[in-house]
Amino acid sequence: MGKIIIIGAGGVASVAAHKMAQLQITEDGLFDKISIASRTISKCHAIAESVLERHDVIINCYQIDADDVAATTKLLNEIKPDLLVNLALPYQDLHLMEACLAAGVHYMDTANYEPLDVAKFEYHWQWDYHDRFKDAGLTALLGSGFDPGVTSIFTTYLRKHHFDRIDTLDILDCNGGENDEAFATNFNPEINIREVTAVARHWEKKDGENGDWVETPPMSVKKEFDFEGVGPKNMYLMYHEEIESLKTHLPEIGRIRFWMTFGDEYIKHLTVLQNVGMTRIDPVIYEGKEIIPLQFLKSVLPEPASLGNSTKGKTNIGCIATGIGKDGKEKTLYINNICDHEEAYRETGNQAVSYTTGVPAMIGAAMLVSGRWSGNGVFNMEQFDPDPFMDMLNRHGLPWQIKELDGPLDF
Ligand code: NDP
Repeated sequence: MGKIIIIGAGGVASVAAHKMAQLQITEDGLFDKISIASRTISKCHAIAESVLERHDVIINCYQIDADDVAATTKLLNEIKPDLLVNLALPYQDLHLMEACLAAGVHYMDTANYEPLDVAKFEYHWQWDYHDRFKDAGLTALLGSGFDPGVTSIFTTYLRKHHFDRIDTLDILDCNGGENDEAFATNFNPEINIREVTAVARHWEKKDGENGDWVETPPMSVKKEFDFEGVGPKNMYLMYHEEIESLKTHLPEIGRIRFWMTFGDEYIKHLTVLQNVGMTRIDPVIYEGKEIIPLQFLKSVLPEPASLGNSTKGKTNIGCIATGIGKDGKEKTLYINNICDHEEAYRETGNQAVSYTTGVPAMIGAAMLVSGRWSGNGVFNMEQFDPDPFMDMLNRHGLPWQIKELDGPLDF
């Protein structure tokens, strides 16, 4: 199989399309036909034009509302792709999974389902599809971005090659990029703000046996960390979806936390927007019409895909794991990738946050179309062999490094 349809035409889709086109040329038809379909077809055309110009590869464009299951099924039946790569928004996940089942197409995404009216991102809605995908002989791969995605692959790689047991895991996501905007989110503003304003949750086995969620108010736990390539940054404890899949598939881990960096300016703007009610996701009446304040806010904020040419600096995302090494001794390892915004822009016309998501999306698709990862049902990244994925990260723009630290984080 090697016929792909990408759904969505934002920054992440743009990077994935450029990287798939590169593989079409260099790895002899791994993605032999690429299509892209989204709500606004002009954005599909813009991506296709850029790919044609840079790589001389043709991408076919289609207009689709991915929430319309019947229309998407019809399109899939016409194009007959092997794999649908969902790079639209988390709200579309279940509708696209339904269309894949109806048309007999494998499925992949980078972010787990969220209902529009509740800011709750949990896997159970998608895990519930396991038996239907299994019975249909289809694969659904969930969360093949950077986080979730590469962070889970980093963890399973460390467990496979360096540890007999992992006791604690901290995932550190730093975007050290700066741009000309006073306030901009580095991926879809609505999804980003819902994530940041959610109650922070981490996983912990308090009694050493049974784990439980530990909740803290949003953005209330702040620590400074010195990130290589970026410098010292404040990072905040947050909930992130790979904690749920990691604690399920690697139940030995006693504590899993997720940290993300934010600058003081970002926090200042977000605090004001929250205080005045602009981040609400319940409807309010404006001039006789229902509007959702956060959706209105999204419409006035810069689109992530437009930030590419003004963003400078680096991202540094990785995992710090402490446990019992293969030599029987306790050790702490830090595995991470550093990605440069300007280099990402030169290569694909997009900044590093789109790049660090779009490259793993391409690699996840490569794992499935090449048959290196296979299975019937719904799967998370931790359930597959990390080695071929890690190899492709090194070869396709996201090289990683492992360093031994003196000990775990002291907080
Ligand atoms: P953008 O907002 O830039 O792009 C989203 C695209 O989806 C837009 O082209 C949008 O169309 C399209 N879309 C939205 N609704 C529909 C619909 N009903 N039917 C068809 N198309 C639709 O987002 P990003 O590119 O930044 O992010 C894409 C995805 O990647 C998101 O799910 C995000 O959560 C995820 N992500 C994952 C990360 C990870 O590391 N795992 C990190 C960053 C992002 P239109 O232009 O018309 O609005």
